[in-house]
Amino acid sequence: MSELRAPVTAYVAIGANLGDASTAVLCAINDLDDLPQTVLLAQSSLYQTAPLASSGPDYINAVVEISTGLNAHDLLLALQQMEFEAGRDRPYPNAPRTLDLDVLLYGDAQMGSASLTIPHPRMLERAFVLVPLAEIAPARVSPAQLAVVATQAITRLASMSGR
Ligand code: AMP
Repeated sequence: MSELRAPVTAYVAIGANLGDASTAVLCAINDLDDLPQTVLLAQSSLYQTAPLASSGPDYINAVVEISTGLNAHDLLLALQQMEFEAGRDRPYPNAPRTLDLDVLLYGDAQMGSASLTIPHPRMLERAFVLVPLAEIAPARVSPAQLAVVATQAITRLASMSGR
């Protein structure tokens, strides 16, 4: 793990469509708050969406804002460990999943490597990312970006604003 560094505000997308998907997403939010050097700052409502370039039951999605002292690669490793512990299997690309965690934004960083691209390369194509992100960080999503995904059905479930 990295040494102590100035915290960065990052956004993580959470999705699940196997098993008890809502519970998996809510547990992941709690687990993100428990990561080292990391504090949960905000969480979106839960949303329900049909699989996009995927299959199986509808997804439950959310986006969270965290403050983290982890560097971006260590954050990704921590997310992948959480996916593994949730029983994530990768039998084929875009397979249904017990838990999917993506780094959307890491401060204002722009980076691209074999294992990590930030901003997330497909985030602008996905209502299930942009709509919850706009809920908690409206300055990070433009109306024009939301308009591009407006035809994708997305249903807002429970509000998490009481947290
Ligand atoms: P997935 O199977 O959809 O969870 O995709 C995970 C793969 O995408 C892994 O190989 C990651 O290294 C890679 N990846 C690249 N950029 C990101 C990102 N911003 N967040 C999460 N995974 C990423």
